[in-house]
Amino acid sequence: MSFNPAKAIENIHTFGPHNEINPPISDTSTYAFKKAQDMYDTFEGKTEGMFLYSRHTSPSTAYLSEALAAMENTESANVSTTGMGAIVPAILQLCDAGSHIITSRTIYGGTYAFLKNFAPKLGIETTFVNITDLEEIEKSIRKNTKLIYCETVSNPLLEVADLPNISKIAKKHHLKLYVDNTFSPLSITPQLYGADVVLHSLTKYINGSSDAMGGVICSDKEFIESTKDVNTGASMLIGASMDSFRASSILKNLRTLPIRIQQHSRNALYLAQRFEEIGVPTLYPGLTSHPGHTTYTKMMNKNFGYGGMLTLDAGSQEKANRLMERMQEKKLGYLAVSLGFYKTLFSAPGSSTSSEISLEEQKNMGLNNGLIRISIGLDSNIEDTSKQMEACLKEVKII
Ligand SMILES: *Cc1c(COP(=O)(O)O)cnc(C)c1O
Repeated sequence: MSFNPAKAIENIHTFGPHNEINPPISDTSTYAFKKAQDMYDTFEGKTEGMFLYSRHTSPSTAYLSEALAAMENTESANVSTTGMGAIVPAILQLCDAGSHIITSRTIYGGTYAFLKNFAPKLGIETTFVNITDLEEIEKSIRKNTKLIYCETVSNPLLEVADLPNISKIAKKHHLKLYVDNTFSPLSITPQLYGADVVLHSLTKYINGSSDAMGGVICSDKEFIESTKDVNTGASMLIGASMDSFRASSILKNLRTLPIRIQQHSRNALYLAQRFEEIGVPTLYPGLTSHPGHTTYTKMMNKNFGYGGMLTLDAGSQEKANRLMERMQEKKLGYLAVSLGFYKTLFSAPGSSTSSEISLEEQKNMGLNNGLIRISIGLDSNIEDTSKQMEACLKEVKII
């Protein structure tokens, strides 16, 4: 495959009405029509390039959506206030009371909690499977299954979904495949492997400065339009629409995503290799020892590496906590949830971002409480960072 998502972003030309090279911010919630008929037609989705009300679309959210659709190689996209504000409407647009969903038991805690605790209230049932076990996926399909939902690289265990083969199963059984690509923007383009809907939390790598929240649904035009329908669209009616100011700021950050991802990936690979060398149990898709390494490699675009996320096992929760506190004191990063920042961020998922998952289930999936999830930063001298991290590992007696 030779799709270059960075080029797709660069190729978007969006001069403003006065040839501004940054599109203007449309600071308005509503739009006037010169002719009453145009308003009626716009309500019915029959006009092009006319805006009605900013919960539907604003010129600024349209610019960002267009760029993200280009990046994910989909016809269309729709941005939202948060990642969850994209995921929930995308699921509810497709599923009715009585629908069944198959997903991974190691997905993002918020998505997990929605499917486990909230969706059943709406009559939507979910089976949680080992997403790397294709047989288990196929066996879990029922008459009322509508959707296979997975993350390209899962949070927090970094399991890699075999998208070409999962999509084969989905197509064979007439199911939709939704893929949350938050951990692997640019590196992997799920649409190329048959994903029907690609989702992101823009809060992470895509915005990249931990100052904003956002989400996006990328898909074909028909699906995106259905989510925005004034009478039946889940995005339109749930109302988690992005503000124009935010859309404008995220669009500007998106432009540096390619070089940021390259640096995150380079730094993470260096550290993962080093940790493995000195005997710290490390999971990173770029390591040949990682169970998903071959799967990731067969799907990856050129030049963006294996991403910036790695986990290491400190052996116990106590050691994990001490290591994280020590690394923060040494200015190596912050003890904070989230990912994709210029500084390294670390947290123990068992007690934080995956705490929605019960302890017993955490154990079943191999999520033990010494696990530390690390989002590697843009450090300019990773050799030096590595030496300092090794000193912390020694102090805490992990090595
Ligand atoms: C953070 C995250 C989300 C949720 O995004 P928000 O912007 O926090 O709502 C969804 N999926 C993954 C993989 C994430 O990391």
